[in-house]
Amino acid sequence: MIRIYRPGKPPSILLNKGEQSKQAMCRSYDNDSRSYDSGDQKFAFCKNIHSHKSVKDALLKSQHGKCCYCESKSTHNTFGAIDHFRPKGAVKQGLNEDDQLPGYYWLAYDWSNLLFCCDRCNVSKGTLFPLEEPAKRARNHHDDLNAESPLFVDPSQERPEEHLRFHKEVIHSLTERGKKTIDGIGLNRPHLVEARLKRLRILECLKYIVLADTDHQSEAEKLLGESKRPCEEFSAMARDFLD
Ligand SMILES: [Zn+2]
Repeated sequence: MIRIYRPGKPPSILLNKGEQSKQAMCRSYDNDSRSYDSGDQKFAFCKNIHSHKSVKDALLKSQHGKCCYCESKSTHNTFGAIDHFRPKGAVKQGLNEDDQLPGYYWLAYDWSNLLFCCDRCNVSKGTLFPLEEPAKRARNHHDDLNAESPLFVDPSQERPEEHLRFHKEVIHSLTERGKKTIDGIGLNRPHLVEARLKRLRILECLKYIVLADTDHQSEAEKLLGESKRPCEEFSAMARDFLD
């Protein structure tokens, strides 16, 4: 996971249709909060707003075409997903706990809550959004989000390397938040570890060539340097391995 810098200006669809839809949901909630809290009524979210092409394109560009959590470049064979950092429809504190309703409906079209991620990370994360103090969770648009201390690392707000580091192809946590993030999103799932190992073996080879000072040294050195660029797949692992 690497730090992500979203463009400051949200795509216009979020500012017009997204804002209108948010206001309508907030009014509906205020009119009948009890039935939304019980799940008798559920919000219908408009995929054409939060996953609009302009939103996806802007996120993909700022994320170098990679998943915000696992750094996989998977758009060549899957669509990927727009991730709501705070889940929009329902939310739960732990893997074995029940969903609480409603979710963070008022953030469904909020630019600061949107990220692009791969299908695997999206499914693993699901409605999970653990907090340090679950009792302080914002349950509707009147509550204060600043009272929450999320346990998942938000790559658009903080430096992931302060919580997550690599030992070879395996991610380790430096903090409790790092551990929750690895476990909750499945950042050491077998297929992902296998893909990282493949990349690591290439880096290892290149590193030996550089150290051995052969004819291929300058080309290998260039490739090693490139592997740490933010646009490269698994760049956080490459950085931890090489530096
Ligand atoms: Zn992913």
